[in-house]
Amino acid sequence: MAEKGAHLTGTSLIKPSIFEIVAQESFASTVEPAFKKLLSFIVSFNIERYGHVLRWTDEGYLIFNAILQRYYFNKYSASFSEAFYGLKRVVATDSKVKRNLSNEQKKLSLILIVLFPYVRSKLSQLSEKYKLEELDGCAPKSTWQRLYRNCVTTGNTVIFTVYEFLVLYNYILYVSGKSAYTSPLLRLLSITLTYAERVPLISVSDLLRKIRNNSFNVDDSVDILQRLVTRSLEFGAFFLQFLSWWTQEHQNTNLLSLPIPPPPQIPEIAKRYKGICPICCKALRVHTVLSVSGYAFCYQCILPVIHRERKCPVTSYPAKEDDLIRLYLD
Ligand SMILES: [Zn+2]
Repeated sequence: MAEKGAHLTGTSLIKPSIFEIVAQESFASTVEPAFKKLLSFIVSFNIERYGHVLRWTDEGYLIFNAILQRYYFNKYSASFSEAFYGLKRVVATDSKVKRNLSNEQKKLSLILIVLFPYVRSKLSQLSEKYKLEELDGCAPKSTWQRLYRNCVTTGNTVIFTVYEFLVLYNYILYVSGKSAYTSPLLRLLSITLTYAERVPLISVSDLLRKIRNNSFNVDDSVDILQRLVTRSLEFGAFFLQFLSWWTQEHQNTNLLSLPIPPPPQIPEIAKRYKGICPICCKALRVHTVLSVSGYAFCYQCILPVIHRERKCPVTSYPAKEDDLIRLYLD
């Protein structure tokens, strides 16, 4: 990849293959779920104390992503996943490289790459929530609120369906050589991807020579530190991909899941009330179970007792009317 970049001149553009473009995009999409999985894994060591952190995973990822991408844009003119695949961003018009990104374009790239997935994820979460509330019948009755909710759910579906269509259309144009842009968002900024030049690495012998000659300065140590952080992030990326794969393959397996305990022993008193109501001691009519204790009563018998005593008549566990569950056995 990088060796092709060696032939890059000021005016011609060497386009990466569609496979590299798709691979870097799919790699970029695995970072967020992997980050969230890693965060919930760390939090699960002390869920009581840090459990509330999980409510802010989207925002946590937003900050992490902003810091990570800012570093990569400043250093490589590319996002994390683009740099990982040896690509960088350049300004292009009519398949010609014009110049490297200006600072404004780096900032715009950063804002788009960080905010777009965040806004998209928040909108779909909101839309899902509204749809569920509508199904549960607890959506607000006010006309304006209903209109607003309809706008959010329909808007979310329409906007992102159109976006996915544009992405596909853009791929077709790119593959057929009719477009130099790899995605609709990059087209907006007149930016495309090309191969990055190989960054010369300071060799170990150069390093030893510098130390021997006492010419090893602060810049060299900062450079080495940056390389170390970058390399560990890139190696970490493989680990993140592994975590993402693990999440998909083992969706129902929790790493910290404990063995399921055996069911509780049935108390003697429960055996005595088998099939009969503990209050009227007759066969159950309108089977109703009290969820706090698990005992079944006739609805007509238990309701006044709950109203009066606010506890289960058998176990004395505190109970309220909401704890009554109608059983449809017939
Ligand atoms: Zn009864």
